[in-house]
Amino acid sequence: MDLLTVLVLNLIFILISTFAAQYFIAEHLSAFSKKYGKPLVILIAGIQIVFCMSFSLIATKNFIFDLRLIPLVLGGLYGGPVVSVVLFLITFAVRIPIGGSGIWISFFNTLTITVFVSYISVLFKEYPLAKKLCTVVGIAVSYTILIFLMKAAIFNDPSELWFIFIYGITLTAGIFIVTYFIEITKQNNYLHKAMIKSDKIEVVSHLAASVSHEVRNPLTVTRGFLQMLKDPSISEDKRLFYLNTAIDELDRAETIIKDYLSFAKPQSRITSTISVTDEIEKALELIVPYANHFSVKIKKDLMTGLYVSGEAPKFHQCILNIIKNGIEAMPEGGDLLISTREKENELVTIVIKDTGCGMSPKQLAKLGEPYYSTKAEKGTGLGVMVVYKIIHEMGGTIEVQSKLDEGTQFVITLPLSNLNLHT
Ligand code: ADP
Ligand code: MG
Repeated sequence: MDLLTVLVLNLIFILISTFAAQYFIAEHLSAFSKKYGKPLVILIAGIQIVFCMSFSLIATKNFIFDLRLIPLVLGGLYGGPVVSVVLFLITFAVRIPIGGSGIWISFFNTLTITVFVSYISVLFKEYPLAKKLCTVVGIAVSYTILIFLMKAAIFNDPSELWFIFIYGITLTAGIFIVTYFIEITKQNNYLHKAMIKSDKIEVVSHLAASVSHEVRNPLTVTRGFLQMLKDPSISEDKRLFYLNTAIDELDRAETIIKDYLSFAKPQSRITSTISVTDEIEKALELIVPYANHFSVKIKKDLMTGLYVSGEAPKFHQCILNIIKNGIEAMPEGGDLLISTREKENELVTIVIKDTGCGMSPKQLAKLGEPYYSTKAEKGTGLGVMVVYKIIHEMGGTIEVQSKLDEGTQFVITLPLSNLNLHT
């Protein structure tokens, strides 16, 4: 392989593995990555270093050209001094068996870089993007110059100058691209989390008003019955009836508050087998006050015994978001139907249908875009986006049909969990 092929191959591998790792960690290991961030960086950068060194170009005097410097520097900068030292050790565990006189230059240069990277890694995370990019470019350029000077001085051999030139350019461009890439992905993941959070806050605050309203009703009713119980002349039957009704009403108030609080509080991310019907019932309990507020009648047609796998609170939020939109599409009242069915091929469909304002094809096309909302300052335009993300995460699909002034229908299709398949 010629030098350029080797370097491009190195760069492509670093880019793909960095992206895959970041994506995978953000999607599946976000809780894990807080605790084991450093080992993960060592693992990923270590693999990249070994890959780069296996696909390298060995020039005269066993002088090796590859892009191992990129994972070595970035791993150290993002992981900190300890990671930096471990990566240094990994590099030499692989480099020593190759041997050759180039090894001393390599050792000295890599050590210098490791010390420098360890030193600035403490501050690096706080740098703004431009400063981060300048730092890594600075390191790559200095390293190239260092190699050139040493090669010229020690070997008294300015040949392969051309090699060093190509190497320097690729290294600098490569480290720039990879850093930029890491930063963009990090920002994206962060934004995504912030979006899900801000949508939840919006739902929580909207529901708060109607929940407190709904809780007041049972309290008023209970108070009325208690008042009547004061009358010593009422019959035993009536007394029992009043007491039971009062207790039921209090239970209802308690359920509403409990559901609301469990929705509002931060949730752990545990994937489990969840009952579709139970989660829908829970969401409904929470949203019914909101529906009443808009005179929306909720009808349900739920099949029991359907299980899917996912994070219950997220699924719950997803159902809530869709129903909430449906209710908001019917400010003058209307019907909202929610039904579940088992489909062939081990699938379950959840249909949520409203008789509200509907959407034009143009609006429908925009649905799910972040910040797309027709509700002015009352909307966040994040609800549907969050729904798409959650359903996608659960391995499902979602289909929306809508006609202006007639209504909208959301059809969610999810794979049934194994629990169904074995019973
Ligand atoms: P928000 O509700 O904050 O506006 P969403 O992401 O939940 O944000 O919804 C985005 C937009 O999609 C809404 O503003 C609305 O125009 C449209 N939409 C969503 N669901 C429905 C529905 N059931 N009927 C009509 N329009 C809807
Ligand atoms: Mg919404």
